Amino acid sequence: MALTDYQNDMETCCRCSACKFIPLEKVNGFNYVNVCPSISRYDFHAYSGGGRLGMGVALLENKLDYSDKLLEIVYNCQMCGACDTSCKYAMDMEVLDPINEIRNSCVESGHTVPILDKLITSLRANGSMVLTSGAKRGDWAKELKVKDYTKQKAEVIYHAGCRTCFDRDMWNVAQSAIKLMQKAGIDVAIAHEEPCCGGRAYQMGYKEDAVNRASRNMDVIKKSGVKTLVTGCAECYHAFKVLYDKFGVKGSLEVLHTTEYFDRLIKTGKLKPNKKVELSVTYHDPCHLGRQGEPYIHWQGKQIPGQIILFDPPKEFRRGTFGVYEPPRDVLKSIPGIKLTEMERTKEYAWCCGAGGGVRESNPDFARWTANERIKEVRATGTSVIVSACPGCETSFRDINKENSGSLQVYDVVELLAQAIL
Ligand code: SF4
Ligand code: SF4
Repeated sequence: MALTDYQNDMETCCRCSACKFIPLEKVNGFNYVNVCPSISRYDFHAYSGGGRLGMGVALLENKLDYSDKLLEIVYNCQMCGACDTSCKYAMDMEVLDPINEIRNSCVESGHTVPILDKLITSLRANGSMVLTSGAKRGDWAKELKVKDYTKQKAEVIYHAGCRTCFDRDMWNVAQSAIKLMQKAGIDVAIAHEEPCCGGRAYQMGYKEDAVNRASRNMDVIKKSGVKTLVTGCAECYHAFKVLYDKFGVKGSLEVLHTTEYFDRLIKTGKLKPNKKVELSVTYHDPCHLGRQGEPYIHWQGKQIPGQIILFDPPKEFRRGTFGVYEPPRDVLKSIPGIKLTEMERTKEYAWCCGAGGGVRESNPDFARWTANERIKEVRATGTSVIVSACPGCETSFRDINKENSGSLQVYDVVELLAQAIL
């Protein structure tokens, strides 16, 4: 797909601004109705989903150049997909896909953000977009007896993700996941030289790098014969499950998030959380596990443009409803002693942690502001314990907490499950 393929979608935008807010019927409280970090922070229509679609049309009609200002607006967006979900509450049109295509067309025409270019240079040279790290890729698993699926046969792959591999603060999550799987008798393997999934490269507009990486990774996985991949990173989950399917390379690989997998192991009696973990917590839905985590739906056909586009054959839309919402909550509820309180913006209308779309690297101040907004919402529930299911989200919250010398405690669902079992 290219930007031109979304011309009808972009022209259907009626500038109603619904993409800036949670749909009225879904609002849970007066204080938290905004859903798009970009428009909430910059307060000018161009910084919204609809505003970006208008820029996409202007680019196609050569009424706008790839100026520095255009790049600044296009990249001050977390690619969180909240605009897409809110718009599709009433409309049948794509919003996030064309926004991603605008980024792709920026990169293809040579207009890039220097720091993001640096990340891609690192990806091409070292296979990772993590620039600074004291750790080596496979170090987190050194003390564990775990097979390498690139050399040995196994039943299930555990993919830790770059953010976890290179961040010692996140190692406990990956190590706990392996120990829990081993306790349940699962024949699990990792790649000691685990490759980057390429998902973040795609979100930043580097489509070719992402597609190449997806093809290479799937060649290795198919050769291993493994049928199931489990990952604890929401962005890797989205890449393997949704993007690889979109790129046509996923095949029949079953892709599960650790919360889905452990929920299954608990419900089939293979894992029994029986130690008390006395904590009052709230759960943060990662964008790429929640609204963006639902399966990809292939559609090919004819669009009949007009005030409302008609699709022949009818097109089924991804509206965020079928993301992974219950498994992480069910795992938490299975742990004795845990009390779960919900924030006002949850599930498909959750507020982003701020780290997505390259914003953490290109505009750390905006990323911090976005995370702080979420932390205020955490505090409003009366708890100071936030649990999530993605190293990107958890690192954002932990960093802010350190800066503020705060009292927030940040956990991954897997860490709490390990406390209840191991
Ligand atoms: S993107 Fe959708 S919700 Fe936003 S202004 Fe356009 S039509 Fe309205
Ligand atoms: S993807 Fe997220 S940050 Fe970007 S315009 Fe949509 S809601 Fe706003």
